[in-house]
Amino acid sequence: MLVVMRNDASAEDVRGVVTAVEARGLKAHPIPGAQRTAIGITGNKGALEAPIFESLPGVLEVIPVSHAYKLVSREVKLEDSVVMIGDVPVGGRRLAVVAGPCAVESLEQTLIVATAVKAAGAHLLRGGAFKPRTSPYSFQGLGEEGLRILAEARDRTGLPVVTEAVDVEGMELVEEYADAVQIGARNMQNFSLLKRAGRSKKPVILKRGMSATLEEFLMSAEYILSEGNYQVVLCERGVRTFSDFSRNTLDLAVVPAVKQISHLPILVDPSHGTGRREKVAPLSRAAAAVGADGLMIEVHHDPNRALSDGPQSITPEMFEGLVKELRQIAPVLGRIL
Ligand code: PEP
Ligand code: MN
Repeated sequence: MLVVMRNDASAEDVRGVVTAVEARGLKAHPIPGAQRTAIGITGNKGALEAPIFESLPGVLEVIPVSHAYKLVSREVKLEDSVVMIGDVPVGGRRLAVVAGPCAVESLEQTLIVATAVKAAGAHLLRGGAFKPRTSPYSFQGLGEEGLRILAEARDRTGLPVVTEAVDVEGMELVEEYADAVQIGARNMQNFSLLKRAGRSKKPVILKRGMSATLEEFLMSAEYILSEGNYQVVLCERGVRTFSDFSRNTLDLAVVPAVKQISHLPILVDPSHGTGRREKVAPLSRAAAAVGADGLMIEVHHDPNRALSDGPQSITPEMFEGLVKELRQIAPVLGRIL
């Protein structure tokens, strides 16, 4: 259920509704909008009695929310959300470019790549310190040492850092260093991790599970918002299909589908989405064209020797060329880069 406040409602009126909601053992989520504040109510088992809230001062109307996902839905918040990662806005008119290696391998490697992507125009640095690998024998990441390296790269380049937390136990450490916490495809339905991310003060980039439907994807985001963290960015990274020419099938159609239902920003990751270096630039251009709010791209200065995801990592030179193309495309789409 959604309580929509009048546009002249005072902060005290909003507090009054929150108190009334909480007094019933429910959770209130005030969502300020351009015109008026709405207050989402969660935690109710069945339908709530609208008249209880309709009579409170400052309330315009009370509307039932028809979808299972509520807080992520445009029914609750009409305007697009802009999530700040450090000083970088994700969502809105600007296309955000997240770039960096799949995994942090060493200080030298991270600084080379970070400096190069920064010079080419990236806004955010990515790099995994904790890697969810298919094989237990593959490189698992440098752990805390990797986080320290990312922090140093941030100090040197000014780029805010995005890095993955793979489990609840590791969340606190990642939060200490990261400007945004990534939740990976394999963890999209790790509900305890989602709830923990919902209690984090840091923005979260939630990647789509490799077999997740749109509804499952949005419900996972709903877990994070329902715990009080509204700073969520979605990321399409390809789903598994019968296609045998790429690692995954990048589902670009999900971008307009998300935009229709949800106010959350969505990035596209063409690196995991294709698994092949030569396909990253074409799919990046396509992602911008379908309305993605930005891109997440794996870059490595020596991709054939990368410790993870080398085949899909592009070189700094390729990245520079791609950003140049995106700069030309963005204005045509009414966006800036
Ligand atoms: C990654 O970003 O390196 C990663 C592991 O991505 P995904 O969770 O989408 O596979
Ligand atoms: Mn990777």
